[in-house]
Amino acid sequence: MSFKNLGLSDALLKAIDKKGYTTPSPIQQKAIPKILERKDILASAQTGTGKTAGFALPMLQILNNSKPLSKRPVRALILTPTRELAAQVYDDIRTYAAYVDLRSTVIFGGVNANPQIRTLRQGVDILVATPGRLLDLHNQKVFSLANVEMLVLDEADRMLDMGFLRDIKKILALLPNRRQNLLFSATFSKEIKQLAGSFLHHPVLVEA
Ligand code: AMP
Repeated sequence: MSFKNLGLSDALLKAIDKKGYTTPSPIQQKAIPKILERKDILASAQTGTGKTAGFALPMLQILNNSKPLSKRPVRALILTPTRELAAQVYDDIRTYAAYVDLRSTVIFGGVNANPQIRTLRQGVDILVATPGRLLDLHNQKVFSLANVEMLVLDEADRMLDMGFLRDIKKILALLPNRRQNLLFSATFSKEIKQLAGSFLHHPVLVEA
């Protein structure tokens, strides 16, 4: 099994090659084709399994297949529980997006919002965010979520542990109904299953 077999474009294969990956990890082998088919995904995956590339690579391919809109509204939203994870995911996305024409940025709390606001105002295709700062800047009308086509909840169990359920529900209510949803979680409590059931449409189950 190679990344090429998974149906990824040459621009992404070049970035993967440069990063030094030779073989897709099990979660990547299972998730990437389903995401490219535009299915919702419920994935059980720990950190270290390669889950980030598992959602980021097909996301980049899907967004890049339709021309970036001139005003660059947010088309993909990735929510993470912590600023560290947000920064890590953003870093990975930048690496994988080296040869495609897509803009991304990251926002999280605990730092000055002004640089984040300036970048958002210029328009981004992909936004990585922690829930609190996302809602804060959305309330300030810095960007719109009306064009979001893909939503990723990364480490959803940690988001619930950290008390983000209310924020997540508020964010879901800001998104258009027609979109693709990907939920990644290391564990599956009753609460996670309930959350998943509330917004995933016929999800494909994927295990790392
Ligand atoms: P993650 O689970 O997304 O945090 O990824 C864990 C680590 O595995 C990161 O350092 C990635 O750069 C690396 N990684 C992801 N996919 C692959 C792959 N297919 N081959 C080798 N390393 C990978």
